[in-house]
Amino acid sequence: MSGKKNDDRESGDIPVEEFLRAGDRALRWIARYLEETRAYPVRSAGAEGDLLAALPARMPEEGEPLERIEEDFVRLVLPHLTHWNHPRFFAYFAISGSMPGILGEIYSAALNTNAMRWITCPASVELEKRMLRWLARSLGIPDSFSGILADAASTSTLLSLAAAREKATDYDCRRRGLAASGAKLRLYASEEAHLSVEKAAILLGIGLDHVVRIPSDMNYRLDAGALRERVRSDRAAGFLPFAVVATAGTTATTSVDPIPEIAAIAEEEGLWLHVDAAYAGAAALLPEKKDLFRGWEKADTIVVNPHKWLFTPIDASAFFFRDPEALRRAFSVVPEYLRTPDEADNPMDYGFQLGRRFRALKLWFVFRAYGRRGIEDRIRHHIRLARAFADWIDGEEEWERLAPAPFSVVCFRSLGPAGKARTEEALAERNRTLLERVNRSGEAYLSHAALKGRTALRLAVGNIRTTRADVDRVRGKLVEEVRAMSASASARLDRAQGEC
Ligand SMILES: *Cc1c(COP(=O)(O)O)cnc(C)c1O
Repeated sequence: MSGKKNDDRESGDIPVEEFLRAGDRALRWIARYLEETRAYPVRSAGAEGDLLAALPARMPEEGEPLERIEEDFVRLVLPHLTHWNHPRFFAYFAISGSMPGILGEIYSAALNTNAMRWITCPASVELEKRMLRWLARSLGIPDSFSGILADAASTSTLLSLAAAREKATDYDCRRRGLAASGAKLRLYASEEAHLSVEKAAILLGIGLDHVVRIPSDMNYRLDAGALRERVRSDRAAGFLPFAVVATAGTTATTSVDPIPEIAAIAEEEGLWLHVDAAYAGAAALLPEKKDLFRGWEKADTIVVNPHKWLFTPIDASAFFFRDPEALRRAFSVVPEYLRTPDEADNPMDYGFQLGRRFRALKLWFVFRAYGRRGIEDRIRHHIRLARAFADWIDGEEEWERLAPAPFSVVCFRSLGPAGKARTEEALAERNRTLLERVNRSGEAYLSHAALKGRTALRLAVGNIRTTRADVDRVRGKLVEEVRAMSASASARLDRAQGEC
């Protein structure tokens, strides 16, 4: 390191004094970054390939001093970041690397455990079980559910549908393959469901043609009557309907499918029910929101992502299942080298991943540092901020809200001066331009959605350090950019008339 030879040491790692000095600098840098994130443009302003061009084509031949790596991190990497931990990150779903969560990640990186089987890291396996129980109880998910922590909701959904496929084919699929089993499997989800359902169908050999998208109603909720009819007509046509995904908090508008009705259909028709509550599930902590999740206790599996709205650094997805045996029968394969005399409950038997990192540690830090009440208050605060923004939209003639906002996401659009008729195309163009102007400014970052042919802007509140002033700021920015757009439009008009 830094010219100093390590030959006289047994350890191949850097000297601990050097680690301590660098660690001290890192923690100070992190604390300042979290305090001053607003100084950075939210969305990276660079072009694709900028960082790539600035990086050497080969790794260094000799080790470099940590200080130089840190300098290059600030000089090269930082300018090309889109700051997901920025309080004015309102795009997609805003997330939080909270301070307790960051500390949990540091300890987990230091321990570097791999919880393949219970014996390879008992603490990881047992803390994970306890954290999932804490979470389930806070959310009103019954004790009959157990679970594992996965990396992403996409993984949880894939695991769920894989187990569903096995159950539907009497566990024949895993042995002889889907083709030999001859089952013409079909699965159902609303047209608003997340793309991870389709990805799962690709990976599981179900095929995209057999993911049946059920229409949604005016409020973007799955039409349960249409689901029932479609399942019956598919069965009559020789297909084997095997699973339905209900979404609690869809990606575009955060609408909640009618879970009790879907659960009743699933029961009548013998379908596996997966509830995708990756983002909104966190809101089940709030007494006033519990009703929206009624019926999810009838599901076979539920996914809620702590890395979405539970202040846990990415990645952590809680995958709950009611029948552990179904998962085990779908996935358990134990080679000799992993056989142990114990009868332990091993996480590798519930999914396809063997090695697993210690995600429960950051959950433990987050849950204990804020407490159930603290988390509830923070989520409620976000819902209030979104409500205030929605109220502002509703009170303005030149703006329109495009969907109910049951949680912390608002879908809206700019209409332009009242009384002026505009086509859907012109409105879409107008809002795309507005979005790009706001995002390019770096002051805030919003995203968009297509809602029954209309283009909506989406404001998603979810970062733990977001304040009312941040929401006011993005509101001000939207108004300012709309004014600038009409000013440049009338200047164009003047010029055009002058030329006549
Ligand atoms: C975010 C989200 C997902 C995908 O989550 P990942 O963890 O990124 O895979 C799936 N479904 C819903 C409803 C989501 O909001």
